[in-house]
Amino acid sequence: MTENIECSAIIFDFDGTLADSMPFLAKIGIEIMMKYYNVPEDDARQRYQSTTGLPYEHQIKMNFPENPKNEEAIEEFESLKIERIFEQELFPDTVETLEILDKMGLDIYVSSSTFQSTIKEYFDRRNLTHYFSEILGYRPGFEKGADHFNYVAKKHNQNMHYAVFVGDSLKDYERSIGFCHFIGILGMFNEEAFRKEGHKGYLVDSLKQIPPLLKPKYT
Ligand SMILES: [Mg+2]
Repeated sequence: MTENIECSAIIFDFDGTLADSMPFLAKIGIEIMMKYYNVPEDDARQRYQSTTGLPYEHQIKMNFPENPKNEEAIEEFESLKIERIFEQELFPDTVETLEILDKMGLDIYVSSSTFQSTIKEYFDRRNLTHYFSEILGYRPGFEKGADHFNYVAKKHNQNMHYAVFVGDSLKDYERSIGFCHFIGILGMFNEEAFRKEGHKGYLVDSLKQIPPLLKPKYT
């Protein structure tokens, strides 16, 4: 692929895409699975990885359907997460990339499986909220992917044909199918994994490689 993507909006996943929070989230996510379900570390890691990108609530319910410990496990994860999520740093090129995309005239959004109030506060604390047209987080029934994309299309009158979703997980790619372009961030998943999933478009090592791939479309 050598053609630039014509776009008027760019939508970013949060964890592992804008914020370097995946090592922390994976650590507590795996520990909770080991603690509540008595699974060995390798097994917990595999279960966590294969469902990453989804809200933890779904990760648990998919891996341990109908388990009576689910509510307690999810609650403990969320409380461990909120304690330390604000300490997790952005990637070194996040702000610089947001600045460039903003100057290009693109509308910038966040679509995340983390609760909305958490991400909003995360960016407020860093004085970065002004970069975003809207920050969309998770609440039951309103998820990263279809729900958020339909909302952006309707509320912001965004033609999804000219939108790009950027994410670091295979689930992110999956959720972009049928909606918009996708750019994958390599790290948690390698090129082979994204290709195997069916992604034929761009893959990048870091955020700053993204602006040169885009061609602003002014609508
Ligand atoms: Mg992510």
